[in-house]
Amino acid sequence: MASQHGLSRLGDKDHPIRMSSLTAMARCQMMFALRYLKETDEGSSEAASTGTAVQRQNELWHRGLDPEEATKQALAEAGVDATLDPDHLLRVMMGYSSDPRNAQTGMPTDPRYGEVVTSALEMEVGLVLPSASGDIHMTGHVDFIRRYPDGRLYLWDGKHSKHDTKILLWEYEYQIAAYTIAAAATMGEPVYPGGILATRQYDKGPRARTEAKPFAESPKSLDDCKRMVYDFLPPMIEQIRSGLPLVQPGQHCDPNTWRCHGGSQACLAVFDGLMRGSGGTEGLPGTFFVGD
Ligand code: SF4
Repeated sequence: MASQHGLSRLGDKDHPIRMSSLTAMARCQMMFALRYLKETDEGSSEAASTGTAVQRQNELWHRGLDPEEATKQALAEAGVDATLDPDHLLRVMMGYSSDPRNAQTGMPTDPRYGEVVTSALEMEVGLVLPSASGDIHMTGHVDFIRRYPDGRLYLWDGKHSKHDTKILLWEYEYQIAAYTIAAAATMGEPVYPGGILATRQYDKGPRARTEAKPFAESPKSLDDCKRMVYDFLPPMIEQIRSGLPLVQPGQHCDPNTWRCHGGSQACLAVFDGLMRGSGGTEGLPGTFFVGD
């Protein structure tokens, strides 16, 4: 059974794990497995579409376009997308570009923050973790790596979410940890966890420059990130590879917030069976989720 299900190939060289999917894995292995097997991604929600456009306009601005040009081009590249609000995007762009903490090289330095130079943008990274069931390959896409006045590189992940930034730090802790470790290999020096750059805060426009809200600093140290990536992730992945991902119900079962496609009777029935001590052999992923 195990050798036939797609989960046994999870993270092999030909099926690398996207670091952006680690949030789901850390919350509920079953949710991750469902998404992986059915290739159900986040879909083109309003937040995802807008977030992609925001990240793109920020990148274009860092590469030299003025805020209006950057917004216009990001909208043009997105094509026809009714979920995008040009006024919102421009407000965010104006707020982001006027915040000295996002300074480009050559921008006036704000004495409150010292000089912050954007060191890397939109960088593809990879990571290979040793594991008893075979090497685990992961890929990711890093938004920002910035060198701060203390001389260190810090990683920031752009999120355009309506959620409170504390919730975002919790949701994306594994993603940030993996990005941090993988980025260090690409940059050739340690990269420290910066945190979440909550771009929706810039909807307030230039006023955001006087507020600390867009930058939600990760409470994790670099050692925390290493432990999460090297000690905690491989056992989770081995569990999923075995074909028996853990069913981990919680707030994230709400299909409206986490869009868990397992919110049906299915995973709950499996969970129920396990709780009743049936051994969980009926309806487990190998027979239930695979091959349909
Ligand atoms: S409904 Fe809940 S327990 Fe079931 S797969 Fe989704 S998150 Fe996991």
